[in-house]
Amino acid sequence: MDIEEFRKRGYETVDRICKYYQELENYEVLSKVEPGYLKKVLPKEAPEEPEPWENIQCDIETKIIPGITHWQSPNFFAFYPANSSFPSILGDMYSDMFNVIGFNWLSSPACTELESVVLDWMGKLVGLDQKFHSDGRGGGVIQGTASEATLVTLLAAKYRMLEEYKAKGADEEKLRTLSTRLIAYGSDQTHICLKKATMIANILFRALPTDDNFSLCGETVKQEMEKDITNGLIPFFIVGTIGTTNSAAIDKITDIVDAIKGTNVWLHIDAAYAGSALICPEYKYLLEGINQADSFDLNMHKGLLTNFDCSCLWIKERKYLINALSITPDILKNSVSESGMVLDFRDWQISLGRRFRALKIWFVIRTYGAKGLREHVMKTHKLANRFRSKIQQYPDLFIIPTTPNFGLVNFYVKSNDSLKNSNKLTEMVSNRLNESGKIYLTQTKMREQYIIRFAPGSPLTTEKHIDQAFELLLKITQEVTVNYN
Ligand code: PLP
Repeated sequence: MDIEEFRKRGYETVDRICKYYQELENYEVLSKVEPGYLKKVLPKEAPEEPEPWENIQCDIETKIIPGITHWQSPNFFAFYPANSSFPSILGDMYSDMFNVIGFNWLSSPACTELESVVLDWMGKLVGLDQKFHSDGRGGGVIQGTASEATLVTLLAAKYRMLEEYKAKGADEEKLRTLSTRLIAYGSDQTHICLKKATMIANILFRALPTDDNFSLCGETVKQEMEKDITNGLIPFFIVGTIGTTNSAAIDKITDIVDAIKGTNVWLHIDAAYAGSALICPEYKYLLEGINQADSFDLNMHKGLLTNFDCSCLWIKERKYLINALSITPDILKNSVSESGMVLDFRDWQISLGRRFRALKIWFVIRTYGAKGLREHVMKTHKLANRFRSKIQQYPDLFIIPTTPNFGLVNFYVKSNDSLKNSNKLTEMVSNRLNESGKIYLTQTKMREQYIIRFAPGSPLTTEKHIDQAFELLLKITQEVTVNYN
């Protein structure tokens, strides 16, 4: 493809993207293809000869789109949202234009410096303490996902704890033995990425029980840590969540801070979903706890109109992360890095290479302004509240079992006789809703109760879509319950 063909095909592609977003509402949200559908229609071998662009473009329409679940649809209410925006898409286009691999400052100074600037902007919008900003001993960095953020902070925490023992005289062998006694904590509601991080790092992990609101309490942390210390273990890392995956529950962060006071336990806050809301004045009350943590992470790709992937991690003492992850072979040595005047983000993450993701954040924040981003967050929450008040109008049909937080609505279908029947009915309703193709939502199980989660977030969703989704839910629930009883 030469530059003139790229120009032509590029314009066509932008036109196609516009058409997609204009028509998105009409697509069935959940793809209906059977497993293995694509293998059946694609050649077994890579083409030996170049193919015309028209054929490739045509295959997007006929072979790829049928296998797409439309996450950007205004009728997508599953998981947590992963919204996109045009400024973000354009930011990614510029990133693809440069295609720099910004592992250290010298490999593309703008890539590193813009990332520091926009992460400081975002940190300030959230209300993070000065200590998390890059002009102190901390700073922000873009990770691919909240899972990666959890893994790298776990490694930083391990480094910090072992440093303490090293300072007391532990040699390498002793440190290896001590590593086997380290234990990390989350709650029974913490995202599984923590368990996975401990599996990767070969660290002991315990999920602590939550209270009636599915929140982790300080007292539980204190008691469980004391038990483990008595048994010779070394608590070193705990994840507090603001906005859990199942029910958007909020852990009692200030109490957890009190519970670990005086220890060297690292507190990481996972606000992958709900962190976006912290840019709004309504949620600033959560900052008291957050600002006492060691690290904090939110996914701009969930709630702040920034395309995947864009998880923003802030850390108070960057030296622990850098020391835990830094190895400098000769090929990467350079005088600027050695001067200590620059950040090399390769030392803040798992991989060496990294994309220029700061561009899309820069475009998004400047295009919408902080004001526009806050409006988007609050609009989403307003839509969720609209759906919830409709559910509440039918107390004989639906129960809302968890405290509503942020933009998530959890509910189940009521049954007068048993949990088993309620679960059955809820599952049937959930399946029928998704099979309809009109909307897509996900379900979960909390303490044996089957629950449907409703999480709006697409910028295209309006009150009309919420009302249509509820009407469909009501119709299907009435049909299912009549037939079942
Ligand atoms: N933490 C929470 C609270 C989440 O809800 C999720 C995903 O929804 C994650 C972590 C994992 O996110 P990621 O896909 O960015 O690793």
